[in-house]
Amino acid sequence: MSSERGTLYTIAAPSGAGKTSLVKALIESKTFVQVSVSHTTRPARPGEVDGVNYHFVSHEQFQTMLEAGQFIESAEVFGNHYGTCQLWVEETLAQGIDVILEIDWQGAQQVKKLLPATRSIFILPPSKEALLERLTGRGQDEASVIAGRMDEAISEMSHYVEADYLVVNECFDTALKDLRCIIRAQRLFAEPQHARQAALIGELLSS
Ligand code: 5GP
Repeated sequence: MSSERGTLYTIAAPSGAGKTSLVKALIESKTFVQVSVSHTTRPARPGEVDGVNYHFVSHEQFQTMLEAGQFIESAEVFGNHYGTCQLWVEETLAQGIDVILEIDWQGAQQVKKLLPATRSIFILPPSKEALLERLTGRGQDEASVIAGRMDEAISEMSHYVEADYLVVNECFDTALKDLRCIIRAQRLFAEPQHARQAALIGELLSS
């Protein structure tokens, strides 16, 4: 257990930008980074596992948690409610582990307001064509559904300006490296390094 507090990151992106795959790859390769599992009222999609992808809860359960102040942030996205458990985030950060919140722009705004030291990251797709291709999926959806997804993506992307870091996911490996660099640079930030390297600094400065 580390005496140093972890860093909190929010990662926002329009759907179709590859956010979930990037975060998955990032936490697989980094020991001291964990992703928060949100609570949602959205029904599970095929292949999604309760407690892994989300904590799937009823509207009543969500409302009870909300009223009890158990969420660090919450938002309604596409008609479903999502929230991040405050206790888990606090306990994980207190263990010196960095925490990633994979949330929408509304959640990112709330977290930044509450905890200004949070580092916010926004992921953009490389082009409108690439986004459209990803949103079209398996080609089974109607044009109006795809147009609706594109409108939602544009609305989410308009919040890119609020983030501290902007990553363009043109090449998956490069975008992953970019995310790793952001975390690495944050760890090298001078103030926490002073504490971490206290013994070395003491030795180097002793005459
Ligand atoms: P999906 O239902 O497709 O997994 O996610 C829809 C949107 O909700 C995505 O932008 C996702 O990042 C966002 N989201 C997921 N969990 C949370 C959360 O706990 N809080 C907020 N504000 N947004 C979330």
